Amino acid sequence: MRHLPFMNKGIKTGKESEGEKSMIRFNVPPYTGREVEYMQKAIENQHICGDGEFTKKCSAYLEKLTGTRKCLLTTSCTHALEMAALLCDIKEGDEVILPSYTFVSTADAFVLRGATPVFVDIRPDTMNIDETLIEAAITERTKVIAVVHYAGVACEMDTIMDIAKRHHLLVVEDAAQAIMCSYKGKPLGTIGDFGCFSFHETKNFSMGEGGALLIRDEKYIEAAEILREKGTDRSKYFRGQVDKYRWMNYGSSYLPSEMNAAYLYAQLEVADKINQTRLERWKQYYELLSPLQEAGKIELPVIPEGCVQSGHMFYIKTKNQEERARLIAFMKENDILTVFHYVPLHSAPAGLKFGRFHGEDIYTTKESERLLRLPMFYQLTGKQVELIAGKVKEFYGA
Ligand SMILES: *Cc1c(COP(=O)(O)O)cnc(C)c1O
Repeated sequence: MRHLPFMNKGIKTGKESEGEKSMIRFNVPPYTGREVEYMQKAIENQHICGDGEFTKKCSAYLEKLTGTRKCLLTTSCTHALEMAALLCDIKEGDEVILPSYTFVSTADAFVLRGATPVFVDIRPDTMNIDETLIEAAITERTKVIAVVHYAGVACEMDTIMDIAKRHHLLVVEDAAQAIMCSYKGKPLGTIGDFGCFSFHETKNFSMGEGGALLIRDEKYIEAAEILREKGTDRSKYFRGQVDKYRWMNYGSSYLPSEMNAAYLYAQLEVADKINQTRLERWKQYYELLSPLQEAGKIELPVIPEGCVQSGHMFYIKTKNQEERARLIAFMKENDILTVFHYVPLHSAPAGLKFGRFHGEDIYTTKESERLLRLPMFYQLTGKQVELIAGKVKEFYGA
């Protein structure tokens, strides 16, 4: 392999700082070793725009992994959600039911098309949308239920799909955190009409910025390809199915560069190893912190029967927001970065402007104020997990 100038400086993988007195970061982007080699290959292929060798390899891998009919690599999960909103034919005045405890993109994708986000409360055990509250929020304007599998733990999909079927609604899965996760044996992202993955640097598998759209029903594939390729049938042209490509419909540019896909492929190749490592760290946290839960000091994540997660996130719940702030400060004094998560969308400026909350906010705000995420990334070592869990215990005087 030829040397690229920046390689002389070496790439920080997050492991070499061990021993030095340094911060344990909350996240370090995944790096497995062959990323640069594959990016160089993309350069040597002289194909660095989208849909080359590495994009094809990544999509094929994801299609095999999930068993979905079609997987299109995108520039982000946000863009995959936007594509899903367009494919759902969201129009001004439509309503979309979703949890308020989520990342902005779940709502943005639909708001951009003129829809009103209708938030319902979450379940305190999984932090996912409370499936028992969805039906009461449906009106004649409702078009989509957008679910979020928080921390890669599945929503109660049997109930949700049943509601969607009875009310003729589409289901979009924000599976940004849920690659390699499943519900009753079904891979997340493949149960609803559309599934959206993220390959942002904070996710289990990364390409810097990137994502994927999973399409369950064959009837949407052609429209999705056109949408992703600036409204043209260029995908068909490249497969030799048409002799010239033309402007077919509205569209945008949702395909990532080969450079990014090459980075991602290096990780997908060792996806099992990444997954195993993360699950080990997750389990280690869980075991080390269980005594604190038994003593009633904190709460640990709940993984319902039938749900397989992928160690995307490890969080604890403190007594309240004030205790959480003290714990964050204590951990920081000990050079460990811990972070809270979403500020509920319905109480944020744009949420107040664009959306409404249906029913009562019993858990969304209260539980979001207690949740604290501990460092979790591929390069995190078992020793670091011990150290972090030890500090949490010290804080609680255990
Ligand atoms: C990360 C994330 C997104 C956004 O992903 P991007 O690839 O950064 O656009 C959307 N929804 C959820 C739940 C996420 O965790």
